[in-house]
Amino acid sequence: MSKEKIILTGDRPTGRLHIGHYVGSLKRRVELQDAGDYNKMFVFIADAQALTDNIDNPEKVRQNVIEVALDYLACGLDPTKATIFIQSQIPELCELSFYFMDLVTVSRLQRNPTVKTEIQMRNFETSIPVGFFTYPISQAADITAFRATTVPVGEDQEPMLEQAREIVRRFNYIYGETLVEPEILLPDNAACLRLPGTDGKAKMSKSLGNCIYLSESADEIQKKIMSMYTDPGHLRVQDPGKIEGNTVFTYLDAFCRPEHFELYLPDYPNLAELKAHYQRGGLGDVKVKRFLNAIMQEMLEPIRNRRKEFSKDIPAVYEMLKNGCDVARAAAADTLSDVKKAMKINYF
Ligand code: ATP
Ligand code: MG
Repeated sequence: MSKEKIILTGDRPTGRLHIGHYVGSLKRRVELQDAGDYNKMFVFIADAQALTDNIDNPEKVRQNVIEVALDYLACGLDPTKATIFIQSQIPELCELSFYFMDLVTVSRLQRNPTVKTEIQMRNFETSIPVGFFTYPISQAADITAFRATTVPVGEDQEPMLEQAREIVRRFNYIYGETLVEPEILLPDNAACLRLPGTDGKAKMSKSLGNCIYLSESADEIQKKIMSMYTDPGHLRVQDPGKIEGNTVFTYLDAFCRPEHFELYLPDYPNLAELKAHYQRGGLGDVKVKRFLNAIMQEMLEPIRNRRKEFSKDIPAVYEMLKNGCDVARAAAADTLSDVKKAMKINYF
């Protein structure tokens, strides 16, 4: 089997991408891409997966395919280095999923913690679409079809990767060494594993409406930051405040770099001192939020500007996606051919 390092990740086109996606996965992809630290990189827009819980709104999914593609380009994904494609255009993935379905039990899917949480989040308890319930299987197909070795994603994807690894092991055990076991690559900064929403909820998520989008206007960013969840017990400036569970500080952990102090808050030497002052009392939320706002504006402005440029030529973006689909389809067909050989269902 090949020893190449192959990177694969994707996003659901259920909305524009937000800063949680950025720190959880997107930033890492761009760094890996620019470092050239891989043999191949595949990035896909998971429209078929998005339909599994959006069947009453397919138009939303369709329209967001291009929005996600623009977010990718704006963040620096480069189609000359990474193959960017749309999941539904690769029928080989369905075929692979169909065979993988025989390798997984219903109870194993029911135990998948991410599936459990997402079922609750979507109020699906009594009416789970079968496609949604089985999406960890199709996700295993997405990963293995490209022989991915490395999957840079947020912490919520850990159970998905574990399930994919189990499928690979079971397939290889039954049919002989054919598929590559993928490894998860989590963000190395703990605050980025699962960035909370601006409302303080556990995860910034398109479905929860608690996001700062990468394409947000400067005014909108500021408005969202100034009304962010902090420590509800920190009422007056002189009160001691809490850092744990205080979303503004979690964002600072995720986005603040040492040089930001000199630039935007020279009366503090570093984040530890800022936190200590907040905990002692005497530091108001507004000052901390203004600091965070300066950092976010600096980060998001160039992304927003690049996005505007790319959005001037949408046909070119579709063309880029089409080329990506062609490359991806050939790669998936190659794996599927190996799979069928291993299963001895290549009759003719
Ligand atoms: P949806 O609500 O439709 O599921 P989402 O916001 O959860 O959307 P996904 O498309 O499911 O986004 O996730 C894409 C990638 O971004 C995954 O790798 C996921 O781990 C990562 N990610 C999403 N939200 C966060 C977050 N808040 N913090 C860190 N990583 C995240
Ligand atoms: Mg999700």
